[in-house]
Amino acid sequence: MDISFQQVGYSYAVGTPFEKRALYDVNGSIASGSYTAIIGHTGSGKSTLLLHLNGLLKPTDGVVRVGDVNITSHTKSKELKTIRKQVGIVFQFPEHQLFEETVEKDIMFGPMNFGVPAEEARTRAHELIKLLGLPEDVAKKSPFDLSGGQMRRVAIAGVLAFQPSILILDEPTAGLDPRGRKEIMELFYTLHKEQNLTTILVTHSMEDAAQYADNILVMHEGRSVLSGTPEEVFSNADKLSEYRLGLPRTVAFQRDIEKLFGKSIGRLALTEDQ
Ligand code: ADP
Repeated sequence: MDISFQQVGYSYAVGTPFEKRALYDVNGSIASGSYTAIIGHTGSGKSTLLLHLNGLLKPTDGVVRVGDVNITSHTKSKELKTIRKQVGIVFQFPEHQLFEETVEKDIMFGPMNFGVPAEEARTRAHELIKLLGLPEDVAKKSPFDLSGGQMRRVAIAGVLAFQPSILILDEPTAGLDPRGRKEIMELFYTLHKEQNLTTILVTHSMEDAAQYADNILVMHEGRSVLSGTPEEVFSNADKLSEYRLGLPRTVAFQRDIEKLFGKSIGRLALTEDQ
C-alpha cells in the first residue's frame, strides 16, 4: 500500500488553552515495499505524523492517504478499521504494553481481537517466538519474568502477529545495548526484504538510516523539509546541521556513507557536529 501526505497539518487540543500546532503542511510519499527512515530533532513532529498512518490521529488539515483510504479531519472511525489491520506500529518501549499472563497469550491477543481463530493465532505466536530468536519455553512464561531485551521481542511479536503490510517502528531499539540493537535492526531488515514489508523507521541514528533505509524524510519544526535517497539527503550536510542533525563523525558512519556513494568522501564525516 502506498502512503502519501498532502498538505497535512495537525494541532493537539484544538480549542483549548493547550492548543499546540505539531504539523504544518507536510508533504511526501512512501512507496509500497520501501524502507523509509524519518529523522528529525526531538519535537519535530515525527511521532505525530506516524500516528496518522493507522488513524490514531486524523489530520486537522490536508489528507493522509494509506492505500485506497483517504484520511481527513472528517473521516469516520469505521472507515479507519481497514487500515488499522494493515498498519502495525511498534511504539517506543513497546514492552510497557505487555499485560497478559503468558507470552503466548500476549502475542495472540491482537490477532484474536481482529477475529483470527485461536488456533491460528497460537500457531503465529509460536512461529514468531522462533523468528524473534526467543527460547521456545518462553511461550508459557509470564512476559514479566523475561529480560528487558526478551520482553521487547515479545512486544514486537505481538505487532507482527497482525501480519501488517506496513510496519512502523518508532525508535524500536531505544534503551537496548549495541548487540541487541543490531540484532533487532537486522531482523526488521530481513522481514522487510523477505516479505516485501513496507517499513517506516523513526530514528535518531544516522547510522541506521544510512545502513537500512532506501529513502529518508527529514522533519523540522513540524514540517517536511528534505527527502530523498540517503545519498541525496546526506549530501546536504549544511542543511542537516541547520535542522540540528549533525552527521556522526565515526569511522562506521563514514564507511556506510562511502558504501552508499561508492566512493571516498571524507568531507561528510568531517562536517562540524553542532
Ligand atoms: P517527535 O516525535 O519528533 O519528538 P512529536 O510528534 O512527539 O515530535 O511532537 C511534535 C510537537 O507536538 C512537539 O512540540 C510536542 O511537544 C507536541 N506534542 C506531542 N504530543 C502532544 C500532546 N499529546 N499534546 C500536546 N502537544 C503534543
